[in-house]
Amino acid sequence: MEREATLTAVMTARASSAPRAASDMSQSENTFAALRSHPDFADVLLLDGEGALLAKVTAEPGQRRGDLLTSVAPVVIEDGGTRRRIGTVEVRFDKARIASEIRGIVLMHILHGILVAGAVVTALFFVARTVTKPLKLLRGTLVHIEGGDYTRKVDPSALSSEHTEVREVARAVERFRETALAVEEIRKSDDRAAREERRRIRAALESTQDAALVLRETGQLVFQNRAARALLGGLLVEGRAPIDAITAPEDQEAVRRAIQDRASDELSTELLTAAGGGETLPVRLRINPIYDADSVYLGAVLMATDISEQVQSAARIRHLAEHDSLTGLKNRRLLEEEISRISADGAHGEVALLLLDLDRFKQINDTLGHPVGDALLIRVAEMIEDVAAGAGLAARLGGDEFALLLRGEDATLRGRVVAREIVGMLAEPVHVANRQLRTGASIGIARLTPEGLTVADAFRRAALALYEAKRQGRGCFFEFEETMEREVRRQSLIEGAMRGALKTNAIYPMFQRQVALSTGRIVGYEALARWTHPELGQISPAEFITVAEETRQIGDLTAHLMTAACRAAVAWRARGFAGRVAVNVSPRLFRHTLPEMIDDVLLAAGCPAEALEIEITEAVLLSDTQRNLSLVSALRDRGIFVALDDFGMGYSSLSYLQSFPVDRIKIDRAFVSKLGTAPEPSALVRAIVELGHALGMQVTGEGVETPEQLEALRAVGADSVQGFVHGTPLDLEQTLVDFDAAARYPALTAERT
Ligand code: C2E
Ligand code: CA
Ligand code: CA
Repeated sequence: MEREATLTAVMTARASSAPRAASDMSQSENTFAALRSHPDFADVLLLDGEGALLAKVTAEPGQRRGDLLTSVAPVVIEDGGTRRRIGTVEVRFDKARIASEIRGIVLMHILHGILVAGAVVTALFFVARTVTKPLKLLRGTLVHIEGGDYTRKVDPSALSSEHTEVREVARAVERFRETALAVEEIRKSDDRAAREERRRIRAALESTQDAALVLRETGQLVFQNRAARALLGGLLVEGRAPIDAITAPEDQEAVRRAIQDRASDELSTELLTAAGGGETLPVRLRINPIYDADSVYLGAVLMATDISEQVQSAARIRHLAEHDSLTGLKNRRLLEEEISRISADGAHGEVALLLLDLDRFKQINDTLGHPVGDALLIRVAEMIEDVAAGAGLAARLGGDEFALLLRGEDATLRGRVVAREIVGMLAEPVHVANRQLRTGASIGIARLTPEGLTVADAFRRAALALYEAKRQGRGCFFEFEETMEREVRRQSLIEGAMRGALKTNAIYPMFQRQVALSTGRIVGYEALARWTHPELGQISPAEFITVAEETRQIGDLTAHLMTAACRAAVAWRARGFAGRVAVNVSPRLFRHTLPEMIDDVLLAAGCPAEALEIEITEAVLLSDTQRNLSLVSALRDRGIFVALDDFGMGYSSLSYLQSFPVDRIKIDRAFVSKLGTAPEPSALVRAIVELGHALGMQVTGEGVETPEQLEALRAVGADSVQGFVHGTPLDLEQTLVDFDAAARYPALTAERT
C-alpha cells in the first residue's frame, strides 16, 4: 500500500507540474478526480511551496473507515536545465480495506496455530504413551546388558507395543539379550570345560615318564612337567626359549628348525642334563605343533623319551655285529665297511691291507682240541693288536685268518715292519694254555690306493700275496705284485680248459725209463703228465697239477692219467715186458676213496695191480698218519707197488723211514745232482740206500743226468736210476720201440756208460 501510495504521489506530482506552473487548479482537480477509482483512495492535496493548500480532492463521502496512509511527492518544474520545487502533492490512502484483509489473515494464522498446537499436544501425549514409556523400559534392560547382566528380560508391554518401530526395537533387544545370555552361558561352561581340560592335559603331562615341554608360539617355555624338571634340573627357566639351553650344540639347528616348521617331527638327539657338566642323555624328541580350531599356531609340545637303554643295547648289538666274539677284534664286515668307506671317501694316501693265516692251526685244533685252538687265536689276536699298537684296524676274518688295515703315509712300509714282527713272533713257540705251541704265520700284504678300490679288489690282492707267501713255504710275508694277478688269470684259464683237455686227451702221459743199475735193463717207466695248450703252449705239470689240486679236478686228472698209464702197461705186457708203470698220486687224493678209484682204473684198463706203482710224497705219511698208513697198506695189499717220491726234500729224517711202509724210495734229484762234487752227498745217499735196504725197500736215484752220477749211485748200492741220462720222457709209441729193440736193452746201459 505504501509503495502504491508513493507511486501515486509521485505520478500525481508529475501530472500536477504543468497545471501548477500555470496555476490552473481546475485542471489539477480533474487529474486528482481520477484517483477516486482506487479502492483505498482517501484524498489528495496540492500545496504550494509554503504549504498553503491549492487544491484538494476527496473520495466519495462515506467511504472512509480507517487510518490514513500519507505519501508526499514534490512538484518540480524544469526551467532552463534547473529544477525548481513549486509545490507538494500529498496523497492519502485509507488503510481500512487492507487492515481488514490483514485481520482475516492473522485470524486464519491464529486459527491454524491453535489447530497445530492442538495436534502437537495430542501427538505428544500419544508419543509419551506409546514410545517413551516402552523406551524407558528398554533402557532399563539395556543398562543391565551394558553391565554384563543378560538375565533381565524386556518388559512385555514394550514387546507388545502398538507402535511398530518400538515393538520391533523391543523385540530386537530381547532377541539380542537372549542370544547374549546363551552365548554367555556357553562361554561360562566353555571356560569350565577348558579349565577342566587344561587341568587334565597338565595332569597327563605331569604323569608321563617322558619329559614334556610346552612352548609358546614365540618359543618361550610355558610349561614343563616333573620329568622335565628332574631331567633337565635347573637348566630351564619358564618364559625363556629353552632349546639352546638343553640341546647339544651340533643338534640345536635341527631342533630349532623342527619347531619352526610347525609340523610334527621326530628326531634322535642328545639333551644336556646339567648346566656346564656336559652330561648328555640320548633321547627321542617328538615335536608336535599346537593349533587352535581356527588353525592359528599357538606353540609346540616337546616330548623327550629317554632312549639311553635302546642306545646302549643298539651299541651292544652293533658291537656284536662288528666284532669277533672270540678275540674281540673287529670282524670281516666292519673291515669291509671300512675299506668301502675309504674308497668312497676317495681320500688320497696310502692304504695297506695285511692278511694273516696261521700255519698248522688245523692240526693244533684237531689234535689238542678247540679250547686250545681258541686260546691260541686269542693270543695271536693280542699279538697283532700289540704289534699294530692301535695304528691300524685289526680284524679276525674267521678261522685262523686275521687282517690288519693300515692307513696314511708309509702304510705299506709300516705293514712290512708289522708283518716281519708278527712272522718273527709266531716263528717261536707260543705259550698257550700251559703248552708251547708251534705254529707260524704267513702274511700277504696288498698296497692299495683308495681311488677306484673295491673291497673285493683289496681282498683279492692281499689273498694273492698270502697265497704266494704260503707257496714260498709259509712262515713269511709277501707283497702283492701285478704279476700275481696275471698268474691268477693264467690259473683260471688253465682251470677252465682242463676238463676239455681231459676229454680230448690233450692231457696225456709220457713215460720216463727206469733202468736197473745191475743189468742196465729197463725195469719200468714213470708216467709224467703233459699238456700242450692251444694258446698257453706247453704247460708244466707242476703248474697244472697245482691248479687241479686247488680246483678239485685232481681226482679226474689222476684217474685219466692213471688209466692211460695202465693201458700202456697192458700194451707193454702184451709185448712181454713185465715192468711197472709208476703214477704220481697227489697228497690231496689221500682219502678213503683212493683204493676204490684205483680199483676202477685197473679194471677199466684191464691192468693187473702188479703192473702199477704209485709215487707218494712224505707229506702223505707225515699228516693224518694213521689213516694214510692204512690207505698205503690197503694199496700194497692189492699188489700195488708204493714209492716214496722226492725223498730227502721234506721234513723227514732218516729215522722216520722205518715207519714208512713203502716198497721203494726215490732219492731226490737235489742229492743226485750233488753226487761226485763232494764226499758228503755220497755219504748221505749211501746211508739212505743202506737204511732202505735194511727196511726191505728198493732205492732209485732220480734226475740222473750224467754217467758220473750214475756211477756214484751204483757205487753206493742204489738199485735203479731214472733221468735224462737214459733219455727224456717218451710217448707210448716210442716206448714200444724200446721193446721191439729188446736186444738193445742191455746195450742201452752199456752205450750210455
Ligand atoms: P717228479 O715226480 O719228481 O717227476 C720227475 C720230474 O723230473 C719230471 O718233471 C721229469 O721230467 C723231470 N726229470 C726227469 N729226469 C730228469 C733229469 O735228469 N734232470 C732234470 N732236471 N729233470 C728230470 P715234470 O714232468 O715236469 O714233472 C714235474 C713234477 O710234476 C713231478 O715231479 C711230479 O711231482 C708232478 N707230476 C708230473 N706228472 C704228474 C702226474 O701225472 N700226477 C701228479 N700227481 N703229479 C705229476
Ligand atoms: Ca714222481
Ligand atoms: Ca720226484
